[in-house]
Amino acid sequence: MQKKNNNKPGSGKKPRSSGRKNFNNNRQQFTPSFKKTPDIHEIEYSDGITVGQLAKKCGRNSSDIIKVLFMQGKAVTINSELDDDLVETVCLEYDIEPKKVKPKDEDSLEDDVADDPSQLVERPPIVTIMGHVDHGKTTLLDTIRRTKVAAGEAGGITQAIGAYQVSIKGRKISFLDTPGHEAFTAMRARGASVTDIAVIVVAADDGVMPQTREAVDHAKAANVPMIVAVNKMDRPDANPDRVMNEMSELGIMPEEWGGDTIFVPISAKKGTGVEDLLETIVTVADVKELKANPNRLATGTVIEAKLDKGRGPVATLLIQNGTLKQGDPVVVGTCFGKVRKMTDEDGRELKKAGPARPCEIIGLNDVPEAGDVFKAFDSEKEARAVADRRNRRKIEASRRKTAAVSLEDLSKEIEAGEIQEIPIIIKADVQGSAEAVKSSLEKLDVKGVKINVIHSTAGAINDNDIMLANASKAMIIGFNVRPDANIRKKAEENGVSIRLHNIIYKATEEMENAMKGMLAPVYTEVIVGEAEIRETYKVSRIGTIGGCMVTSGKLIAHCGIRLIRDGIVVYEGKLGSLRRFKDDVKEVSQGYECGITIENYNDIKIGDRLEAFQEQEVRQEV
Ligand code: GDP
Repeated sequence: MQKKNNNKPGSGKKPRSSGRKNFNNNRQQFTPSFKKTPDIHEIEYSDGITVGQLAKKCGRNSSDIIKVLFMQGKAVTINSELDDDLVETVCLEYDIEPKKVKPKDEDSLEDDVADDPSQLVERPPIVTIMGHVDHGKTTLLDTIRRTKVAAGEAGGITQAIGAYQVSIKGRKISFLDTPGHEAFTAMRARGASVTDIAVIVVAADDGVMPQTREAVDHAKAANVPMIVAVNKMDRPDANPDRVMNEMSELGIMPEEWGGDTIFVPISAKKGTGVEDLLETIVTVADVKELKANPNRLATGTVIEAKLDKGRGPVATLLIQNGTLKQGDPVVVGTCFGKVRKMTDEDGRELKKAGPARPCEIIGLNDVPEAGDVFKAFDSEKEARAVADRRNRRKIEASRRKTAAVSLEDLSKEIEAGEIQEIPIIIKADVQGSAEAVKSSLEKLDVKGVKINVIHSTAGAINDNDIMLANASKAMIIGFNVRPDANIRKKAEENGVSIRLHNIIYKATEEMENAMKGMLAPVYTEVIVGEAEIRETYKVSRIGTIGGCMVTSGKLIAHCGIRLIRDGIVVYEGKLGSLRRFKDDVKEVSQGYECGITIENYNDIKIGDRLEAFQEQEVRQEV
């Protein structure tokens, strides 16, 4: 990778004007001769800084900055946004060290206010159930709910709102009602970390299966403690030892074997062991000392949302801190509203909802998305303004899509000392090659930066991989697998980088080079034009000459050429001579006639199509 400028911000090197004499001489004629130089040696800036804003930070006039950039061949106005290179160019000129910082989001809904420790009280844990298909996740969620919710309380209409809370010996537990790591990781990909504990359900008659492994990797990537529910213990062929063995191989060691994961034998169908499981959840939660402050405005996450014909937008919210009250103005994602009515999973009206409480609310002006964060406000006016600004920004951001991680970003970030670990997902044709790629990548260590393989299995690259990559800012390495168009599109939409290889050392070499900041350029083909053969002439010594009309783009002397007959490529090679009338020319554009020959090829026929192409270097960023 070519560095445009070695004077990286923060590198400590003083960027100086050696070798830039011309530039400085030229500049003199523009610079007022008796201007007092402001005493500024360092500035902070963030993405989207304009010329006007930069001028202010540097203590200069906008016109000075416009001139500096003009001398570099860059025409800007006071409102132009500057990229990092241009900011550096300007700062270099004034001997100022630019430092890039993340902008503070005034309208953030994140819970970023530190709570007074004396206000903190214990809160219920929030639990997600994951595991392989048919291992009993839904049955377990149903059993827990049936036996523990609304026991003895009349009038409740059981609703599916995406989450519910149960009580066990006076302690509460909140369950997310969408089983599986897909939903879990989709939320995480949107920046929401809701789950405190993951229950991994493994059927004792089936053992660890591919989605069990996925679930474990997803929970590990999210740093969420796990409890293993060994299910279907009522089956005669139940083999809990096998489950323990296989889970140990994944690094999930049972407590009785000296590890730190609790395995609970259950039968979700019969209900046996479910009470133990709930008690275990409480025990694990106690270790985590989960706390929240109920005496403040609520913040939390959207679990589910939909448009209801009669009630309008309906959202299930999980309160993560504070207390939400009926009538509170709220901003949910980019939606605004007042909590008109709040109900629990049994349809009972709630006047208020505290930490870890799932509740359904109505009163929003639009339908938010699962994983959106929300925040309650004192003032309706403020809430409305925040929602408006967030909405506008969301639209702008969707226009300016940025990649999660690419090899190029990696090099830059390593150089800037911003990362110590590169998360990688490996998908390969067979488990053996996945293992081999994994172990060779894990050996890489460049400038103290290590590869961390968060998930590695045999199989095609799928939706879940994209989601996990997005959530974990990871890159996907495919070995002897090709993602289909759908997955490629998804990856692109999510800014997920996929690198495909079929030779292990190439995969490691590429990664190592990226870590060292030495990416080799990659070439890609660009179609430059098309032409149609209208006549042919045979000339001894030269061969067949095609008289053609350029139908789009242009033909360029000696460019790559494909001869296409009835939609089939009959020859691929290089253009020989390219002539207009009697003269050799460099190129011929659309709408003009010309004569061509193809190197080492004579079978040109009237009606054939020519496709002209060139190789172009591209930035390495897949
Ligand atoms: P999910 O795909 O993980 O949600 O699995 P389900 O909850 O849909 O269960 C799959 C099948 O396993 C269903 O036919 C359940 O009745 C059955 N099943 C679930 N738990 C148990 C159990 O503890 N014992 C037995 N024998 N069958 C169970």
